Amino acid sequence: MTHPPIGLYVHVPFCTVKCSYCDFNSYAGIDDLQDAWLDAALAELALWATHVAGREFSTVFIGGGTPSLLSEDSIRRLLREIRERLELAPDAEITLEANPESVQPDRLAAYREHGVNRVSMGVQSLNTAELVFLDRIHGAERAAQAFREVREAGFENVNLDLIYGLPGQSHETWKSTVEQVLHWDGGPDHLSCYALTVEEDTPLAARVASGRVVEADPDFVAELADWTAERLARAGFEQYETSNYARDGLRCRHNLIYWRNQEYLAIGPGAHGYVDGVRYQVVRSPRLYIDRVLSLGAQAGTRALRDALPSPAITDWEQVSAHDHLIDTLTSGLRLIEGVDEGLLGEEYAAVRSVMDWAVEHGLAERNEGRLTLTRRGHAVANEIFVRLLDPALV
Ligand code: SF4
Repeated sequence: MTHPPIGLYVHVPFCTVKCSYCDFNSYAGIDDLQDAWLDAALAELALWATHVAGREFSTVFIGGGTPSLLSEDSIRRLLREIRERLELAPDAEITLEANPESVQPDRLAAYREHGVNRVSMGVQSLNTAELVFLDRIHGAERAAQAFREVREAGFENVNLDLIYGLPGQSHETWKSTVEQVLHWDGGPDHLSCYALTVEEDTPLAARVASGRVVEADPDFVAELADWTAERLARAGFEQYETSNYARDGLRCRHNLIYWRNQEYLAIGPGAHGYVDGVRYQVVRSPRLYIDRVLSLGAQAGTRALRDALPSPAITDWEQVSAHDHLIDTLTSGLRLIEGVDEGLLGEEYAAVRSVMDWAVEHGLAERNEGRLTLTRRGHAVANEIFVRLLDPALV
């Protein structure tokens, strides 16, 4: 049986400081675990290698956390083992996430040399007050210089992450951030512009709950989103997902795997994967992860469901039902401007088709040549549709 291509996600849990809004599985002050983390990640990869033998990996995404904190030697070892253990497509997209303060010319040269061909940098804002609010440790100048260094190292596919809808943000400061990055040495090839969300159990959520911070007005946030889409279209970017824009066809192929509900192997603490129809989560604590992989790895082949999932660091897993697969395909695929092919949704679609009929009737979705897409209004209120997909009785 031939399998469709698959992606690899590697989670790097280290950060220099923990940003106030961040709910990713990342930690400051545990750099002493870097070597052990790498040993465990390589051991986990080795455990998976037989399981995914014969599948071609079209993308690798080294994310976090802050992967640009890893030494040249660590990146070299990681990428060498990935190539040795897995079948990488000759044109595989290999992304590494970086933060401006940890980008260094030597490290960038090493990433290039070992196959990284895409850099995704967390800039977020170029306004000093906003950067302080977010607990970011770089300034606007450092971000611009880091971008130059990435280009000088020869990277031709560079994404920048930006955040809008910050409390107290004005249209001018957001506009200024966007305009500046568009003028950096020809600008980036890809932009991810996310509206700030206040995630539970973050310092930001505590500040909002205590009234010290007031969230931005949703109508104003929607205005910023509209302005962004229009401005980036004028700058030659194609919006291909709710928050993502690409120039020259350089869409993020790895993220497209998620949005198209395809499979990806994930390793590292807290990583979520989807392999052979099973979704799984790896233990979040970096120390537990290291312990489980390095001390239990040898027994991994003797477990029950884990018989099918070779990593001893997996804590949760489920075989995805046909219905859940359909709902995942719709909720992630409808974020894409290309939408989903209604003809490929299978028999299960009959159970929720009425919801999409309702969305079309209300101007939230459209049908075009067999594809189902959300309208601009539909993208803005996508959750209204997704709630109904989970409970079609609501329409
Ligand atoms: S640098 Fe990124 S991953 Fe690290 S704490 Fe900040 S937002 Fe989270």
